[in-house]
Amino acid sequence: MEKTHPKYNLSTNFTWDEMLHSATADKHGIKNIPDQEEEKAIAALVKRLLQPLRIAYGHPIRISSGYRCRELNKRVGGVPASQHIKGEAADCMIDGNASKLLGILLAHELPFDQAILYKKRNFLHLSIRAVNNRRQVIIND
Ligand SMILES: [Zn+2]
Repeated sequence: MEKTHPKYNLSTNFTWDEMLHSATADKHGIKNIPDQEEEKAIAALVKRLLQPLRIAYGHPIRISSGYRCRELNKRVGGVPASQHIKGEAADCMIDGNASKLLGILLAHELPFDQAILYKKRNFLHLSIRAVNNRRQVIIND
């Protein structure tokens, strides 16, 4: 079983804390705690996608939003079917343009379900599912 304690590393470069932490949750007293299935999805997201991408990129990737319980997702205005709720998605930021991360993702043929580049807000939403990953790329202004 995965341990969702903040001190536990999920992988070489990612911790549980950064996948679960939310300033909005703290502010509103929302307990952003995944169930066991969601925990597994978060671990798979990091191990299959985020850590390999981190290695390919070679520099830190900051998670601005990882797992969101339903209440938190509602608070931050996420769509009801958001993959963040399942622990399948994370919003990634780097020093510099987030489009660079998308380029690396595609160049290294890493597995993913959806990659949504938010140009103006400069982050890359990435998701992965256990099966049937769509490899869908969406560019938003
Ligand atoms: Zn997202």
